[in-house]
Amino acid sequence: MSKTRKISILGSTGSIGIQTLDVIEKLGDMFKINYLTINTRIDLLEPQILKFNPKGVVITDEKKYKEFKSTTSFKGKILSGEEGVIEAACDDTNDLLLTALVGFAGVIPTYHALQKGIDIALANKETLVSAGSIITKLANEKNAKILAVDSEHSAILQCLIGEDHNDIEKIILTASGGPCRTTLKSEFAKITVESALKHPNWSMGNKITIDSATMMNKGLEVIEAFWLFGLRIDQIETIIHPQSIIHSMVQFNDGSIKAQMGLPDMRVPISYALTYPKHSKFDFPRMDFEKFSTLTFEKTDLDKFECLQLAYIALKIGGTAPAIINAANEIAVQEFLNKNISFDKISYFISKALNTLEIIENPSLDELIDIDKLTRIFTLNEIKK
Ligand code: NAD
Ligand code: MG
Repeated sequence: MSKTRKISILGSTGSIGIQTLDVIEKLGDMFKINYLTINTRIDLLEPQILKFNPKGVVITDEKKYKEFKSTTSFKGKILSGEEGVIEAACDDTNDLLLTALVGFAGVIPTYHALQKGIDIALANKETLVSAGSIITKLANEKNAKILAVDSEHSAILQCLIGEDHNDIEKIILTASGGPCRTTLKSEFAKITVESALKHPNWSMGNKITIDSATMMNKGLEVIEAFWLFGLRIDQIETIIHPQSIIHSMVQFNDGSIKAQMGLPDMRVPISYALTYPKHSKFDFPRMDFEKFSTLTFEKTDLDKFECLQLAYIALKIGGTAPAIINAANEIAVQEFLNKNISFDKISYFISKALNTLEIIENPSLDELIDIDKLTRIFTLNEIKK
């Protein structure tokens, strides 16, 4: 990997985007930035431009785009809107695309990049949740890699190096349990936005932090793992591991288990996705085993964390069901953050959408886009009732 590779980053001002740029800076001249795409945070984009001198930038928010254009001295391409993100994603010179935007918005640019055979470093799990069948099929056809940035999936990928797929008995995705791990279900209605945003181990964007509190994040990750590793649903288990040191495990046919471990630092799985299959040299903080003398595990309670259960149900139903729970979840989480619904109602509205909307078995991309839109409208209407 001596040649400089060109990379575009979708969502460069978010939690994963910022950490990716930190990794890229530490990697020296291994990567050159093609495009940085953002939604609104032009204040964070300016210093990124100065440091990384990209070929172009995309600002999806129309108002922020105009503001940026009228004030910046940046001489490269400045694009806007979803079309701009697609143009950045499938730029012919991209060797790699890192997708770190939030939600269904990741699906279409990733689809277009794969059409061009561009490898994907995938943080945006909602892409595989909503359109796993189409995305993985296309990646296979185009011989393009999908390298997981999600720490659990990076762990599984690392555990599977050199192994025969047929030897896998099951995988075990670990979950921290989030900020509501010890909260009784009867107290869920009273959980505030502020307390749900206080994750014990990870500092992440708001949407995924609420997903961690409801454990929908683990549900989305079960679906993500299903598509990434081609397993049966009954081979994908979850367990609560509050210390977040073991990032996930694979159990083989003879009972042997491989676990991938490390401190909870997203820069580790990010760098692995960027330099796969190499572990490049970094000075990230090291694990001190004396500080973690106890690693504990607890059963995941599907009755308490209904969102996780709904994800398993949607995966079993298949077709558009995972796209429905994803879209309903995006809306419900946003409405919880806006303080329009209580925490316990997030799963309620997702279940309402899943139980009401028609499921299509083998959806096309257009049908998935339609069902995503329809579910958002349906869920918002239900919330307003
Ligand atoms: P974030 O909210 O911190 O950042 C999101 C970024 O995407 C921002 O730059 C924002 O401007 C941009 N963006 C948001 N909506 C957009 C849209 N509609 N169109 C274009 N750009 C848009 O989010 P994050 O925590 O960095 O998470 C990003 C993705 O990575 C999510 O899918 C999340 O589930 C996944 N992920 C995050 C972590 C983590 O530690 N943060 C870990 C694993 C997976
Ligand atoms: Mg994860």
